[in-house]
Amino acid sequence: MASSKQKCITCGKDFLVIEQEANFLSEQGYPLPIECSYCRQDRRISLRASRNLVKDKCANCHQDIIVSDNYLKFKFKLFCDQCYKQYNSNHDNIITDLSKRKDLSQDQIFNNFDSFYQEYLRLLTTFPRLYTSSTHSVNCVNGQYNVNCKNLLSSFDNFDSQDSAYINSCYLINDSIDCDYSYESSNSYNSVDLDKCSNCAFINYGDHLTDCYYCYVCSRSHHLFGCIYLTDKAYCIFNRQYSKEEYEKQVSELKKLPPDQIFPKVQELLDNSFLTKSKVYQSENSDYGNYVVYSKNLYLCFDAFNSEDCGYLYDTGYCVNCWDMSRSHGSQVVYEGIEADQVFKSGYAHDCYKCSESFLINDCTQVENCFGCTCLYKKKNCILNRQFSPEIYKQITEKLFVQLKEKTIKIYFW
Ligand SMILES: [Zn+2]
Ligand SMILES: [Zn+2]
Repeated sequence: MASSKQKCITCGKDFLVIEQEANFLSEQGYPLPIECSYCRQDRRISLRASRNLVKDKCANCHQDIIVSDNYLKFKFKLFCDQCYKQYNSNHDNIITDLSKRKDLSQDQIFNNFDSFYQEYLRLLTTFPRLYTSSTHSVNCVNGQYNVNCKNLLSSFDNFDSQDSAYINSCYLINDSIDCDYSYESSNSYNSVDLDKCSNCAFINYGDHLTDCYYCYVCSRSHHLFGCIYLTDKAYCIFNRQYSKEEYEKQVSELKKLPPDQIFPKVQELLDNSFLTKSKVYQSENSDYGNYVVYSKNLYLCFDAFNSEDCGYLYDTGYCVNCWDMSRSHGSQVVYEGIEADQVFKSGYAHDCYKCSESFLINDCTQVENCFGCTCLYKKKNCILNRQFSPEIYKQITEKLFVQLKEKTIKIYFW
């Protein structure tokens, strides 16, 4: 299929549907987008639990809980830890009464996409959800999506963390304070946007750095201080090369200065820099985008890594043949996913893990052949949380897919 120009129904700007994208959508049976990639990304991001935390009560036992204000906006039924565990030990969220709607007949729900979609929206607020997501945490305060954490405070999206404070979107971090958007860091203090960093501070977009401070967009380097746009360098201060001894001597003095005396010097370097090209490293045919690493054939991707043949990835890695993915990892042949990890051949997947051949799924784990389902674990051949035989599942979803493909309205997750 040829590329085509469309007008975004949300922001009104023209946008392009490129040939590879149109081919992908056609092969997988999705309609052409009617919003530009930026509006699509905004919409997906609005589905994430926001970083504003508010007080609430468990919907079951009414004890105090702290939740993301998005959860309240979505009108989720939120349970505390104990109530959620107890609920899950007795429920699998399968609806056995096929209709369960007075206003919509069974026939309408399963044959008409609009009625089907209405019922999907209703299901999203039907089943209880855990008020916050943290596993194996100790003394965790206000966390969200933390795994194996210890003594965390005010943290979001962390993984395997320890003794951290105010951290955000981190991964395998250690002893960190005030870290932001970090990755395989250790002992980091006040760092921003790092990658495989150790003992680094005040870094804006680093990549495999060790012992670096006040650097901006530097890569595969160690022992830098106040440097910008350096790659494979060591012992530099404000972009000047020093010997190891001289570097150590000077940096031990510079480290005593408060940050507000260092930042202006880095800014001066930036103001005099002519480097404006996007930051694409170790990648092939992926220049139209920014912060792309170890990738091939990416189109308009940002913060994308180790991916191939994809378009519109945002903060996403290890994906192949995926379009419109945000904060997702290890997925293949997926369209419109957010927090869709290790998902295969699926579409409109929100907050899902290890699912396959499933569409319009939210908060599902290890489901296969599911359509319009939420809060399911290890289920197959379900539509709108109702269980079907493989034959009936195929019959119903084929009809729904034909209607989905013809949709010229926005398909939301929500
Ligand atoms: Zn737009
Ligand atoms: Zn409770």
